[in-house]
Amino acid sequence: MNAAPVTTLTQFLIEERRRFPDARGEFNALLLDVALACKTISRRIARGALYNLLGDHGAADSVNVQGEVQKKLDVLSHEIFVRRTEWGGHLAGMVSEEAAEPIQIPERYPRGKYLLLFDPLDGSSNIDVNVSVGSVFSILRAPEDGATAGRNPAAADFLRPGSEQVAAGYALYGPSTMLVLSVGTGVHGFTLDPEVGEFMLSHPDLHIPADTQEFAINSSNRRFWEPPVRRYVDECLAGKSGPRDKDFNMRWIASLVAEAHRILMRGGVFMYPRDSRDPARPGRLRLLYEANPIAFLIEQAGGRASTGRQAILHVAPRAIHQRIGFVFGARNEVERIERYHAQASALGDHKPLFHERGLFLA
Ligand code: MN
Ligand code: MN
Repeated sequence: MNAAPVTTLTQFLIEERRRFPDARGEFNALLLDVALACKTISRRIARGALYNLLGDHGAADSVNVQGEVQKKLDVLSHEIFVRRTEWGGHLAGMVSEEAAEPIQIPERYPRGKYLLLFDPLDGSSNIDVNVSVGSVFSILRAPEDGATAGRNPAAADFLRPGSEQVAAGYALYGPSTMLVLSVGTGVHGFTLDPEVGEFMLSHPDLHIPADTQEFAINSSNRRFWEPPVRRYVDECLAGKSGPRDKDFNMRWIASLVAEAHRILMRGGVFMYPRDSRDPARPGRLRLLYEANPIAFLIEQAGGRASTGRQAILHVAPRAIHQRIGFVFGARNEVERIERYHAQASALGDHKPLFHERGLFLA
């Protein structure tokens, strides 16, 4: 062989454990199960509309004679995640975007030390137009008061701040399939080699530049934004003629994973801020399995992730499907947005739009 072979995901995980003797490598097997779930989802998605036209097994002669209803891809992805990870003895329980309550580990399998939280298919409306989608996951340590000794974790057991995550990552199903992940030692990107079916380390040690001239926000919500967000975006749009003294570009893919990936690859800032559209829904994205894992990756890559008012990773969750305003990316830009929020509340020109609960108090 002329060159050293490219590092595989398995090799990377084993070498990380050697490099950090204190690091817990016990969840490596769990991460490999998650990676396998993502590879499986990637293949299902690659068949696009044929998934429904041809049935689950791809050939006309294997169409289910029971007339079984074809599962939508986000439900199928959920089931792939659960089935691939429940058996290994690593998990005490799971939370999925597709399940109202925590998912229990079947009695026939041993319980483990970790909790897995995931959005099995993020941006799934993009499927219809053949644009990138992804999966997002977060791993927490299970509470030690007996979760592994018989008790199934309750919803409250999953309500841990993002700073307690032991690993987080996403898979992006684009022109190529990638797995981007952190076990707390930086952020590393792996590209799926479809010929051997293995994730290969292609983007070691990702870093987000502190400055950027690219922002992403859904501008159709402008009338619902709070004043600090409006101020920030107006200043970006004013470009060279405004206070920022430089021109900005705008991007919007409407897929959290794809937006996060772009920012990890070439910088930028993303906003889905808290807004006034629906007082019962302060923010759009889910804290536990969207904002927390992405925030973990972004901060591990030197960026910042915030609600606009406080670091995402320090938010104490109240509910497993809680939504939250989410701003992340280039550190200097996110800090500027936080400064604008702080200035607005100091000036008192920013009346709270919602009943403020503990979440938003410092
Ligand atoms: Mn999602
Ligand atoms: Mn989803």
